[in-house]
Parts: sequence; C-alpha cells; structure tokens
Amino acid sequence: MELAKRVQTITPSSTLAITAKANELKAQGHDVIGLGAGEPDFNTPEHILHAASKAMFDGKTKYTPSGGIKELKQAIVNKFQHDQGLTYELDQVIVTTGAKHALYTLFQVLLNEGDEVIVPAPYWVSYPEQIKLAGGKPVIVSAKEENQFKLTPDELEQAITDKTKAVIINSPSNPTGMVYSKGELEALGEVCERRDITIVSDEIYETLIYGDESHTSVAQLSQELKDRTIIINGVSKSHAMTGWRIGYAVGSKKVIKAMTNLASHSTSNPTSVAQYAALAAYTSSQDEVVNMKKAFSERLEKLYGWITAIPGITCVKPQGAFYLFPNVSEAVQANGYDSVDDWVKAILEEEKVALVPGSGFGADQNVRLSYATSLDQLEEAAKRIHRFVKKHQ
Ligand code: PLP
Repeated sequence: MELAKRVQTITPSSTLAITAKANELKAQGHDVIGLGAGEPDFNTPEHILHAASKAMFDGKTKYTPSGGIKELKQAIVNKFQHDQGLTYELDQVIVTTGAKHALYTLFQVLLNEGDEVIVPAPYWVSYPEQIKLAGGKPVIVSAKEENQFKLTPDELEQAITDKTKAVIINSPSNPTGMVYSKGELEALGEVCERRDITIVSDEIYETLIYGDESHTSVAQLSQELKDRTIIINGVSKSHAMTGWRIGYAVGSKKVIKAMTNLASHSTSNPTSVAQYAALAAYTSSQDEVVNMKKAFSERLEKLYGWITAIPGITCVKPQGAFYLFPNVSEAVQANGYDSVDDWVKAILEEEKVALVPGSGFGADQNVRLSYATSLDQLEEAAKRIHRFVKKHQ
C-alpha cells in the first residue's frame, strides 16, 4: 500500500534510536542512566490530581467546546494579564491537546504550499516536521554558539524572502536552554515588523528560568508585535503535566478561530478531565512550580560544573529549561570517533549513559543532556562520561 507523499518526508525522531537501544540494554539488566528525557521527573502536584478526580466524579467527562472550557480559557487570560501584563479576550485563546498540537494546528492554518518559516537552529525536533506537514518549507538558520545560540537580527533579515511567512522564537530554548533578553527580542521584533513576518513564540519553558534572567515575551514589547505574535504555552513543563496533554495558543482572533474550526474536525476537544486539572494548576498555589524550579536550578549548577570539567567538552551556560547542550567535538575527535552520533552510541554501550546527539536538533557538534533526573543519577552519569573520555584518549 502506497503511503501519502505528505508523510514520506517525515524524519523519525532522532531520540528514538538511542531510546530503543537504552531500553534494550535496560531489559538485559544493565544499569542505564537516561539523560534523554524531555519531561520533568516530578509527579503532578497532588492538589491537581484531586481536582481532576473531583471533575471526573462530578461528571465532567463529556465533550467540551472545541477550543476548551470557558473557565480554563479565563484562567489563561488571567495568567497572561497577571504574569506578563498582556490583555487577551476569550476568543483569542484556544486550548489544545498539548502545546505540540497547538503548534501543529497553527502551522496548518497559517501556511500555504511553499510558504517559508524561519527555524533558528538548534531547534526543537518537531518544528521542521510540522511545517513540512502543513506544506510549508522550514528554513533552518544556524544560530552561532559564540552568540549563545541566539539568532541575530542580521541572520534573521538575511533569511527572509518574499515567501517568508513566520519565524519561530523559542525562549527558553529546547535544546540549548538559552533565554532571549528584552533587548534581543526588540531587535528581532523590529525586523519582523519591518518585513511583515508573523512570530510564533513558543514559551513552554517560561517558568524555568534561573539566576537573574526573567521571561519576556516578544508580545509584551509593543501592541504591533503583540498583534503579529501567536504565543504557544502549556502546563506540561511548568506543572509536571506532560501526560495530561494540555497546551494552548493565544493571539489574533482570526487565527484562533481558524485553529478552533480545525480542532473541531480533528481532536473535537482536549480531554475534559485534563482541562479541569489544568484549571486547578492555574488557579491554585504555585508553590510546587517554584520548588521544581529550585530543584532544576541546583541541578543545573552542579551538572554544568561536572560536565565542563571533562576534557574536550565546552558548554554555553544555559539560563532556562532543563537541558545542557555542550559542544563535544574536541572530545569526539580525541576519542577517535568520526561523529557525535557514533560517540554517543559508544558511551551508551560502554558506560550505559544515554545522551541525545545534537544532529536531530540541527547541531552536529553537540549533545543534549536533560537534568530532569535526580542529582545522584546526574553525578554518576557525569562520572561515567568523564571516565569514557579519559579512557579513549
Ligand atoms: N515546544 C517545545 C520547545 C518543547 O520542548 C515541547 C515538548 O518537549 C513542546 C513544545 C510540546 O509540549 P507539550 O507536551 O505541551 O505538547
């Protein structure tokens, strides 16, 4: 049976091969440390579980409006007002089946065949695939490591053609953990305004910013920028709720209406009970969000020290999310491997530590390490990588 052309160009997730190998080794009884996780290792806070349970027993188990229940949309509107001083109306919000599906639906309603979307690399693996699935063309622009992996206004300007529809800004970033400052966003925003480009601002790691940095959305900078920005966010990373699948998009009424129409024919609605759980997440104490952030911040400091002490590994220090994205090219060379992918495979086989090669994120000199695992595990993983690098020199 011949498959549609649409799916023939999709590249499978780069993390899959390494995860499959890690699982195989685990099944054989090996003590494998996985640093590939893209989700918090914490449990969903208990009061959220109780709210979901109550919703279930109160009979909130039916279809909901396609764009989400009104109470949750209102809570999202209130959150934007409170946290970012951004005013949205209810019909500027769509609740979706995770932030991933907000992005998917957005590209479907935004792009015509051949429309270009600028994707700064290193990028989250799903952006290029989702753009292609919508008939668009991802234009990958490599942000330089010496610029902390941040896209510069010049690089953005040079990538724009008469087919450019949008640019993705993901701050804090997966995989680099970089956070754009207000000034940097102003400079990028100026280009988008002058060249009439839509901004897709993926702010899913918003609550996970460490040190002195704070979160700024490009939509906060001016009314004009707000009008051309669709913000994507959700509760997966902030409230340890990855499995609940609740995300959302806010922005132009026209775009949100089209997304809601499309959702009405695809998902119908995000899971009813999960929406009540997300409502509880936003309308009750945020103490656990703060506690998780503290734990991540401590792990970042420690892991950063351990990893950068390994010869041949350098790392731009991240300010957010829960990933390190070190450059391992010198270590790979010193260890006699042809590519980062081969080096990562060898570390998994010999030392039983699973890392994600940077190639899947558009950066083949780097690896991604997630610190969404305990400090003990992180310390042991760093020791094993160190041992591997020294042994093969
Ligand atoms: N955007 C980025 C940058 C991510 O890293 C992820 C999850 O890994 C998502 C969006 C999707 O999040 P969700 O679990 O809400 O679909």
